[in-house]
Amino acid sequence: MSKQVQEIEGSSSIKVQSPLSASLRIALLYLICGALWILFSDQVLNAIVSDKEMYARFSMIKGWSYIVMTALLLLYLIYRTTLRMRVAERKLHNQYTELLNNREELRKIAYRDQLTGLPNRLALYENLTLLKDASLFYVDLDDFKYVNDTLGHAFGDRLLREISTRIVNGLLPSEQLYRLGGDEWVVVTRVPKDRLQTRVEQLLSLFDSPFAVGEQWMHMTGSIGISHFPSHGRTLDQLLKNADIALYHVKRQGKNSFAFYDFSLSVPVQHRAEMERLLRHALENGEFELHYQPQIHLGSSQAEGLEALIRWNSPELGHVRPDQFIKIAEETQLIVPIGEWVLRTACEYIQTVHETCPHKPTVSVNVSVVQLFGHRFVERVMDILQETGLDPRCLELEVTESMVIESLDQIADKLSRLREHGVNIALDDFGRGFSSLSHLMKLPITTLKIDKSFIDQIPDNLEDQPLTGLIIRMAKGLGMKVVAEGVETYAQLDYLKKYECDCVQGYLLSKPLPAMEARDWVKTASMPIS
Ligand code: C2E
Ligand code: MG
Ligand code: MG
Repeated sequence: MSKQVQEIEGSSSIKVQSPLSASLRIALLYLICGALWILFSDQVLNAIVSDKEMYARFSMIKGWSYIVMTALLLLYLIYRTTLRMRVAERKLHNQYTELLNNREELRKIAYRDQLTGLPNRLALYENLTLLKDASLFYVDLDDFKYVNDTLGHAFGDRLLREISTRIVNGLLPSEQLYRLGGDEWVVVTRVPKDRLQTRVEQLLSLFDSPFAVGEQWMHMTGSIGISHFPSHGRTLDQLLKNADIALYHVKRQGKNSFAFYDFSLSVPVQHRAEMERLLRHALENGEFELHYQPQIHLGSSQAEGLEALIRWNSPELGHVRPDQFIKIAEETQLIVPIGEWVLRTACEYIQTVHETCPHKPTVSVNVSVVQLFGHRFVERVMDILQETGLDPRCLELEVTESMVIESLDQIADKLSRLREHGVNIALDDFGRGFSSLSHLMKLPITTLKIDKSFIDQIPDNLEDQPLTGLIIRMAKGLGMKVVAEGVETYAQLDYLKKYECDCVQGYLLSKPLPAMEARDWVKTASMPIS
């Protein structure tokens, strides 16, 4: 019997009959067998038995035989049917168990982050009960995008695994870590509110030592936004959103730190979303314009260069200053097309200036770190120079000191390649950071722009502030051209002349001017510097 069961089980499909047809089949078979028996057995008996007594005995035997045979037949048919039912039932049971296993497997896949094996965002939403009286630490790496851009995604993935492991090892038994994707994690903690600050500082200290990725050691920092149940939200979405707002605040304040959510932080975020929407349309609608600020050479009194400074005249917001939108444009990558537009427009413009100014002033264009890290930055600059026909020696790209300090190695090569083509490189806002000149010498810097904050310190008494003068002398000693930014007073101008600063730029001489006015200004070159 068991062999039969196996045979049937082995067959790939089982015919499942309806109860009515199975019963009808049995009844029909019984009817046919019974009818045939009665027909043929009576005829045979009549043919071979003539004696009445014998006939009666045979009839009785025939009757009993009929009962035994039909009983056997019924036994067979019922057995077959129940056997089929049992096999179908077993098969269904197996399929059900398989389904349960698959479901468990799918659950694991759906709720686990594939890269790190940590529970993912979906798992966080599943464990909502954990949130009661808990706090969320929204962790985000600082500048991880640059790691991916410069060292590749495979390296980035390994780094993310290393960081995940370090955070897991630094968790308290009551804490859980979830990876939300990219370089974002959430730690759910039940540490009492008054100890949250100490706890978040402990988590940030996990980033103090570098991470080993293969042969390389990588220093990374992280920023953390914190929200607390129920004061900062009663649903996970609210808590995540508010922790993210706090995180965004940390990023704007300079990263590598933490912040607790506070209602006042939400306002700039709403503003930011609106700005992003408007910025997306600004390029297409031609809402940007470039103004140019002259840089005057103190020796020749001529405008040696013009710095292109972007202006946004938004129909909805009015005039928006660059420091109010450049950061958002960087965060949304919109700075890449905007930066290309600036570069192309400035290159085209300076050629029109050259038509009327035989001494051919240069044009300085500010470049964002996001552009510099972008794919094919050097090629894009060279393409634009070729398309506009501008001599690369007439272009100066301004990079800020802070950008250079953070990623010297990654950008040195790109800047050197541009320098080899003749493009000038200016270090903007020098003095805002704390970089040493010798450190910066690793870069092919041709111009040092001393930040306005240093110029502001120049006192009326020329002898009082030797530091700015020292910087000028050192930079010149290193073969750089020195430009002083934000010159507003004659006292500052005298001081800069005394220390033989090459060029000055500031409101004293000219504010940034619209293109036409700047061109006329350069042509007439009437500056009050002597
Ligand atoms: P920056 O490159 O250091 O430009 C100098 C800023 O100082 C300009 O501000 C200029 O108008 C201002 N300035 C010049 N002289 C004086 C002065 O005597 N007194 C005072 N108080 N300010 C003076 P602006 O145009 O608002 O630009 C601010 C920053 O925005 C720029 O600083 C630059 O970092 C950025 N930026 C401007 N245009 C662009 C652009 O096209 N691309 C990128 N990536 N950044 C840009
Ligand atoms: Mg600049
Ligand atoms: Mg500057």
